[in-house]
Amino acid sequence: MAQDMAAAFQSKEREGRALLDAIPDPAWLVDTDARVLATNAAFCRNIGLPMDAVVGKTTFDLFPPGTAAQLREAQLRVYRDNAPVRDEVWFDTNAGRRLYEFLRVPVYGTDGKARGLAGVAWDITLRFEAERRQRLVTQVFDNSTEGLLILDAQARVILCNRAFEHTSGYGLAELAGHDPGELAAPQHLESLLERLRDEVTTQDNWRGEIWLHTRAGRDRPLWCNINVVRDEQNHLQNFIVQTTDLTERKAAEARIKSLATRDQMTGLPNRHDFGRVLGEWLGNGRRGTLLIFDLDNLGRINDGFGHEAGDTLLRATGTRLRHLLRDEDVLGRLGSDQFGVLTTGNSDTGAVEAIVRKLLDAIAQPLPIDGSEVVSTACAGICLFPGDGTDAATLLRNADAAMHSAKAAGPNQFRFFSHKMNREMAERLRLESDLRAALDRGEFLLHYQPQHDLESHRVVGVECLLRWRHPELGVVPPGQFIPLAEESGLILPIGRWVLAEACRQNRAWQDAGLPPWVVAVNISAPQFHDGSIVEQVREALAVSGLDPRWLELEITESVIMEEPERVVTLLGQLKVLGVRLSIDDFGTGYSSLAYLKRFPLDKIKIDRSFVTDLETNANDAAIVRMVIGIAKDLELKVIAEGVETAGQRDFLHRHRCDQIQGFYLSRPAPAESIPDTVAAFPPTQP
Ligand code: C2E
Ligand code: MG
Ligand code: MG
Repeated sequence: MAQDMAAAFQSKEREGRALLDAIPDPAWLVDTDARVLATNAAFCRNIGLPMDAVVGKTTFDLFPPGTAAQLREAQLRVYRDNAPVRDEVWFDTNAGRRLYEFLRVPVYGTDGKARGLAGVAWDITLRFEAERRQRLVTQVFDNSTEGLLILDAQARVILCNRAFEHTSGYGLAELAGHDPGELAAPQHLESLLERLRDEVTTQDNWRGEIWLHTRAGRDRPLWCNINVVRDEQNHLQNFIVQTTDLTERKAAEARIKSLATRDQMTGLPNRHDFGRVLGEWLGNGRRGTLLIFDLDNLGRINDGFGHEAGDTLLRATGTRLRHLLRDEDVLGRLGSDQFGVLTTGNSDTGAVEAIVRKLLDAIAQPLPIDGSEVVSTACAGICLFPGDGTDAATLLRNADAAMHSAKAAGPNQFRFFSHKMNREMAERLRLESDLRAALDRGEFLLHYQPQHDLESHRVVGVECLLRWRHPELGVVPPGQFIPLAEESGLILPIGRWVLAEACRQNRAWQDAGLPPWVVAVNISAPQFHDGSIVEQVREALAVSGLDPRWLELEITESVIMEEPERVVTLLGQLKVLGVRLSIDDFGTGYSSLAYLKRFPLDKIKIDRSFVTDLETNANDAAIVRMVIGIAKDLELKVIAEGVETAGQRDFLHRHRCDQIQGFYLSRPAPAESIPDTVAAFPPTQP
């Protein structure tokens, strides 16, 4: 049969060959045994053999065994199915691995049975690689974390990737054919459309931020990069839009901004931001009031109850102030224990005063912390603007001066700024810097004021009172520099010096052969709470060699009552050293009798303010009588301070006060004159 076919073919050989050679790709004719009957020039070129070396050979002669088996398998399939077969085969060629697509069709004899087959093969390597690249591009497009949109020349969506679907909440089906400008948040609607038209088309690129209105109704900030694709004729063909979701970055930026402008503990604007707002108000010509509130005893609350308690107090103060202010008022935290308030309107100082009083009252409300009630007052400084200053820095400085002036008047006070305060403030600052140097320059000295037995007027002791001989200002009274020293912490080295000097002096009097008497030393609040008071006293005694029973420590009532539990322990430790303890300025604080009983005290000192008007003010007289009564009940000695007249002395005598101190018998005097005074009233045991 194969001979039939070959014969038939030979008869038309020339036409057949011409036809075969006209085919640009390899073509061939094989019999059922896979033997080549005819082929074309392209086949010979590809396989690298001349025609007569191909014709008559089988597939197995011409190809490596693996390839040949694969080709044969396809041939057999044609006969089995009796139908054309298409498949793809890889060939290793001189030009590298190439993929061919094959088409084989059965060739039938006159009896209708297959006698062989005709085949053509064409190189599809390029198409295959293009498809592979396309798949890769699609994968990148789909998996990109940046949103990608491809628009047509009319800026309508053709394609978008998953990232964009995710950010926008819309699927491609909903977006296709739409202008993405429809997705911009309403307030930015114009942006994408207009900028696309203008900038993108003239510069072929636009970058910037837009707000996307998502399907869920949220506005998301997007960074957009739009590029134009043009065809060969330079006509606009597509827009490619890349979007990066900025939501998280914006949130991080907001956090950073908040760190820079907010006080983290109270969440209020910090000093910097408060000043900025004040500057804005001034720039807009607004009239208003600036208030600075400074807590009176945050430090002591921190020391006594721990920093947690201090933090609670600060947050509560912020909340209380905010609660009483109007929405348009600004509240900020200006420093560790300072708050600032800005309100509009300042024409009526009466009204401003009423607001300030209300705010101070709110701050002074007791606050429950760890089961106890903590009370913290504040002082306020007030500036009206633009009258008191036309820029933020000046106003803050002036309000600060007013606040300090209020502080000088005591706790829970407020003051309107006046230019006099700036001078006072400058003086204060100067005094503070002079105070720093005073100890080194030896400008401090002690005066001593005798304390007398009321009955016999004999000296029972002397109170040492600090004096500062300022090189230009002369003698500065302690009332002026001790609060300053307490605020700046300078009281600690100064107090240490006083204690050492008083002990040294008293021992010197004893060494000079004078009869012994007690020296009383005032201990300030920071010095008492510093943690080293016991050690300080022990050291002063050791260095001077003074017997502890000739040293008395005066601690003011307010200090003792602030944290009674801790004070009980401290006083106990001091008592063990053998020194005497007295409560100074009694009657000015809020003593709890229950505690008084537990303190290991020796003496109560009735404050001068009750003694002064004793003879005319029934109230003061009653207080003095009551204090004497308490002292007797507790079996403590009682002394009245500031006794200036015989009348006062007699009243105290009638009510069985033990001792007196005051100008009536003796004024504070330098150490040198004390022996003479004492000689006039020979000392007796206290
Ligand atoms: P203080 O402890 O109550 O001292 C008594 C004050 O009353 C002294 O004022 C004294 O000069 C004054 N004084 C005494 N008798 C009379 C009188 O009859 N009439 C009047 N009008 N005043 C009288 P000074 O020396 O100005 O001291 C004031 C305060 O300064 C003291 O009050 C005390 O709290 C504090 N202080 C004085 N020296 C020291 C010190 O070394 N350390 C500490 N921490 N505070 C001190
Ligand atoms: Mg005193
Ligand atoms: Mg006193």
